[in-house]
Amino acid sequence: MIEPPPLRNDCFALPAGVDWTPVDEALALLRDRLGPVTGIETVTPFAAPGRVLAEDVAALRSNPPLPNAAVDGYGFAGAVAEGVHRLPVIEGRAAAGPRFDRPVPAGSAIRILTGAALPDGVDTVILDEDVTVGDGEIAFRGPLKRGANTRRAGEDIRAAEVALRAGRALTPADAALLSAVGIGAVPVRARLRVAVLSTGDELVEPGAQAGPGQIHDANRPMLLAMLARFGFDAVDMGRVGDDRAALRARLDDAAARADAILTSGGASAGDEDHVSALLRDAGAMQRWRIAIKPGRPLALGLWQGRPVFGLPGNPVAAMVCTLVFARPALGLLAGAGWRDPVGFETPAGFEKRKKPGRREYLRARMRDGRAEVFASEGSGRISGLSWAEGLVELEDGERHVRPGDPVRFIPYGSYGL
Ligand code: AMP
Ligand code: MG
Repeated sequence: MIEPPPLRNDCFALPAGVDWTPVDEALALLRDRLGPVTGIETVTPFAAPGRVLAEDVAALRSNPPLPNAAVDGYGFAGAVAEGVHRLPVIEGRAAAGPRFDRPVPAGSAIRILTGAALPDGVDTVILDEDVTVGDGEIAFRGPLKRGANTRRAGEDIRAAEVALRAGRALTPADAALLSAVGIGAVPVRARLRVAVLSTGDELVEPGAQAGPGQIHDANRPMLLAMLARFGFDAVDMGRVGDDRAALRARLDDAAARADAILTSGGASAGDEDHVSALLRDAGAMQRWRIAIKPGRPLALGLWQGRPVFGLPGNPVAAMVCTLVFARPALGLLAGAGWRDPVGFETPAGFEKRKKPGRREYLRARMRDGRAEVFASEGSGRISGLSWAEGLVELEDGERHVRPGDPVRFIPYGSYGL
């Protein structure tokens, strides 16, 4: 298995003097500086969906490999003119499977079924429904073009043509395409392993008894599930308290087990913000103050060569930052190239006055052809994340959105959720 080169220590450096980084600039920086970190392995088309193609793959065989019948009917040679035609039908029939091995004489027809390779002497097929069958002959009306109701060899894709390109996140349809063009094994990237770690003294395990001042860890089950949906191997590194030594040990462990690390909490510059403190001490950390709402501090760094995304603790911000920044960045690490989510313009079903300066993501869903947004923008409102089926993205500048105005809606599905 070949391994790509390590990431550079300064891969998350921001331009000097910049205070608030606009979202697009932050994304452009990630895009420029990250690349594949995973090795290459081989899988069959059955195991291919969800994997990232490592190299361009060419068709080994044309699809279809031979000209064949597109319908059930009768095959013969040549176009037929307008008017009534009668043709004798020869013995036997051409069906999908081994090719009918005798030539069909000119002026004769043969019974042929969908998918059958056209026998010699056949280039045109007439549909069952358009034929009257008699004793040893058929009658039908023209006109019919030469080649009607047949498929040309290679009309879908020809042997040696590139079927799929490197970086493609393979889909179920791709498994069909690979199989159809004769490919039994494809080179794919090893699945990116992404560790997830929650930090904070206040956290207890979901379902555990929580004392006063304690809250349940909501980010870890969310982030692990998101990563799995993105097609990565999510590695659960549990929770650690606000304790620098414990966090250091856990990061070491995570770096040994995964290709990249997502932490949540402790990413700001406060006393208990140990993630950013440790990354800073390690000398390969940048605290990105990104002009985004929700979620501002994003600590980005390398821990033992592994990229660390220090997400905000707030679950709403953690999810939005994961969708907007971590997902495309992890896609690069996974060899999938940069993938922007597909959004669409839709009329707003709400009114909002937005201040200039920060790009905003609102929890939203489509109803009756309009984008509705969650009643509260409170960044602790996890119920809004759950209510939503996507995000409305409002541009960085000032905006007064009135009902019916166009806004950009990005379904969760476009992010791969
Ligand atoms: P922090 O980023 O550590 O300052 O945390 C910001 C807010 O998010 C605080 O209210 C934390 O209690 C909360 N928080 C941090 N981590 C989690 C988590 N894993 N699940 C739920 N809430 C969290
Ligand atoms: Mg905290």
